[in-house]
Amino acid sequence: MLSNKDSPVSLDQRNATRLRVLEHIRTRGATSRIDIATALNTSPATVTAATADLISAGLIKEVVGESKSKSAKRGRPRVLLQLDGSSYFVAGLKIARQVISVLLVDFEGKEVTLHTHSLNKTSMSPRDLVKTIYTALEEACSRTEMTIGDLSGVSIGIAGLVDAKRNFVHWSSSLTERNVDFSRLFKEYIPCPAFIENDANLVAKAEQLFGLGIGLRNFLVVTIEHGVGLGIVLDGKLYRGERGCGAEFGHAKVQLDGALCQCGQRGCLEAYVGDYALIREMTVATQDRKPETVSDIHERANSGEQMAISVLNRAGQMFGLGISNLINLFDPECIILSGAQMSFEHLCSDEVMDRIQSGVANVDAPLPDIKVHHWGDLMWAKGAAAYGIEQVSILKVKELPTNAA
Ligand SMILES: [Zn+2]
Repeated sequence: MLSNKDSPVSLDQRNATRLRVLEHIRTRGATSRIDIATALNTSPATVTAATADLISAGLIKEVVGESKSKSAKRGRPRVLLQLDGSSYFVAGLKIARQVISVLLVDFEGKEVTLHTHSLNKTSMSPRDLVKTIYTALEEACSRTEMTIGDLSGVSIGIAGLVDAKRNFVHWSSSLTERNVDFSRLFKEYIPCPAFIENDANLVAKAEQLFGLGIGLRNFLVVTIEHGVGLGIVLDGKLYRGERGCGAEFGHAKVQLDGALCQCGQRGCLEAYVGDYALIREMTVATQDRKPETVSDIHERANSGEQMAISVLNRAGQMFGLGISNLINLFDPECIILSGAQMSFEHLCSDEVMDRIQSGVANVDAPLPDIKVHHWGDLMWAKGAAAYGIEQVSILKVKELPTNAA
């Protein structure tokens, strides 16, 4: 999962080997040098050198235990290598409309604390956002024995068009400005390396590591809440596009000159399916009875209100059209519909499945699995924390002396 190309930090060959060894230990748990060499198809001398470097960086430690390897003789204790969980601490943040969720984890990804910071504005200036992030981090740390200075990395998930490689946000509904270079602001306010990434990509990472994407090579994650996001995992790796402007499923057009989207364009999928779009449409249709949430619309549909039913049906039809286009483009093993709070019934009804089926190019093969996964902001933050651990690993490996063997 750690790859040079995906990272804001470039790597030489030696560091790439160190990271492969680290990633193998993270995936496998405690393992011996000889098993690492076999699994990575490399020489024991290379593994010995790489593990010595990783131990000196405090990333892994030696323990005595029984190897999981089938080839090892049972009952004979061996020196194994495992992650040193207490070596570094990382914060994963998810910026939502109303709250910032902060998850502090150790280097193994184990939760230290979870904190929620309420927001009184849904969008703010980049500087105010970074100041608020700092406050949320301080509050989270105050629940533990740590201070913000003990953090080795901070990883932030935000909706919108994000070039993660350079901490650059082209556009986000959480920001009042476009084209924001966060690297300078992070240096000013955050006392450790900080990384910003599209939130749907972080959900895809969380699904891959802890959720319904475990063991899958090619899958898509569609996130639905205020807007609509997409995370693409191809051949086991997150696909980000060249400029961080890809995978904008919410802004794929489903109607020529259609409804106005919050991005400023017309006819985007999100302008029919996002929370704000449903509330807007209901408000226009029934002027004196503005719904507060999508759940209100669901309640009114369930009680037989025709306008609520037709608003949800249209969202479902547009969504089905969009999903069939994704299948035509990617032919994935699975599409995971993932969201924090929203109820999904209107987006995975039989009518929506029929719409998907009728929009997919005719082949004598079943549709990919379409699975629904409800999860809270904790899992979004967990994806952010996993990304933070990856980036901190890369930075720590890069800090190793280059003349080490
Ligand atoms: Zn749009």
